[in-house]
Amino acid sequence: MSELALRDPLSGQGPGQGLDHPPSYWAAISGPAPPDDGPLVGDRETDIAIVGGGYTGLSAAYFLGRLGATPIVLEANRPGWGCSGRNGGFARPVIGRFGPAAMVEKWGLETARRIFAEGLAALDTVRALIRDGAIDCDVTGEGHLKIAHRASRLAGLEADARAYREHYGYEARVLGAEEVRTRYLGGTQSYGGLVLKDALGLNPLKLAFGMLALARGSGARVHANAPVVRWTKDGSTHVLHTPTGCVRARQVIIATNGYTPEGFYPATNGALLPVLSHIIVTRPMTPAEKTAAGFLTSHVITDTRNLLFYFRRLPDERIMFGGRGRIIDSPASRKVQREFLLAELKRKCPALGAITVDYDWAGWVCVTADQMPHIHHAEDDPGVLYALGYQGSGVALSLHAGRLLADRIAGKPLPALPPVFSPLPRFPLAALRRLGQRVMFLWYRFNDERG
Ligand SMILES: Cc1cc2nc3c(=O)[nH]c(=O)nc-3n(C[C@H](O)[C@H](O)[C@H](O)COP(=O)(O)OP(=O)(O)OC[C@H]3O[C@@H](n4cnc5c(N)ncnc54)[C@H](O)[C@@H]3O)c2cc1C
Repeated sequence: MSELALRDPLSGQGPGQGLDHPPSYWAAISGPAPPDDGPLVGDRETDIAIVGGGYTGLSAAYFLGRLGATPIVLEANRPGWGCSGRNGGFARPVIGRFGPAAMVEKWGLETARRIFAEGLAALDTVRALIRDGAIDCDVTGEGHLKIAHRASRLAGLEADARAYREHYGYEARVLGAEEVRTRYLGGTQSYGGLVLKDALGLNPLKLAFGMLALARGSGARVHANAPVVRWTKDGSTHVLHTPTGCVRARQVIIATNGYTPEGFYPATNGALLPVLSHIIVTRPMTPAEKTAAGFLTSHVITDTRNLLFYFRRLPDERIMFGGRGRIIDSPASRKVQREFLLAELKRKCPALGAITVDYDWAGWVCVTADQMPHIHHAEDDPGVLYALGYQGSGVALSLHAGRLLADRIAGKPLPALPPVFSPLPRFPLAALRRLGQRVMFLWYRFNDERG
């Protein structure tokens, strides 16, 4: 069974209404969702309405609820339906797309250090939420292995390790090719690696279910099947219209990330580029395949490509293998992408030549013009807040962003992070975003296979 093709948010289309979770591996193993508050019926008033019921929206709702507010979440489909319930389950302390040295070059040492520390704080938020909510989301150990997919890329990993040590006082371990192949992952593209100890592998849908329960437990209402199809104002009050009722709110949080329809709100127009990411999950490896492939580690793994592959060995010995998808989603492009990912997995691990795919699905991640997430308010209305643009690495940060948004609404001081707490920049030539993406992807692909 496969999901209907995803609508392109850039064409102004919303994410649909009342859709089920995609038929992912996570949906197959996670059991039933906890209850939500169903569709919105009639009109309601609240201090804070939240559009989007993924990690950002549910976390903001939970932390606001803990502060005594009673926010209302409006989710078009089901809580966790977007990226939050369908990602790869890599919780990493990442903020934006820049490496440890590039952050210093861009913003100077002090700001870079604060961003790095906030990334670690984001992962601590995940750990705390899992603990406080007793969320059973199949956490598999700690550790991120970044693998040099070509011999020439090892020098870059060594430079990263130096930057982590010298600028941030953070221990990062470089591994030679032999150590990677014998202790972590064999195959043809393991030319050494970098191990970062802070990262979790988890079941993202179970985490979304846990966040739904936490949010409702704190007093928030979470409506499913409730797309905001129109947004008007009545004086200073925001009125969010769904097909079955309206919410009137003093403040609104936009938590729609890669699913934000173009035209939804002026502050996000021309500022977001939804990019498809696609995952395959194989059948379980046989013990002989696992040994031959040397797929020993349960660390989450990425490689050194610009259009990187992200993969991991799942607790039941399947391989989850993901990468950036096609430009537009359709049944035909999905098939091409599924075959491409399987071929790339086999190129890395020829010993898995007979492996087959049991599940595949895709979702929209959210890229911004400066490749940084932005947690801010709309310049024309400080009552409209947003946390958007996690660049495809938002598991930890989106949960943390919910907490930061709640702190901000409560008037608590926030860390000084100008690159993050600043308005979303617009793309130059915003109407040509898809064309720009095609050109960039061609350039990245060319570069990834070179040298
Ligand atoms: C295939 C894939 C793999 C990924 N893997 C990883 C990973 O391993 N590690 C990592 O860190 N990150 C990963 N990500 C990214 C990560 O999942 C996201 O950054 C994060 O989940 C964003 O959460 P969110 O709550 O902001 O947005 P989402 O979870 O996308 O939620 C947005 C919600 O808004 C709703 N919505 C949109 N418009 C409206 C409207 N008008 N009215 C009501 N509701 C609306 C949508 O239905 C959607 O449910 C991956 C993403 C994908 C797609």
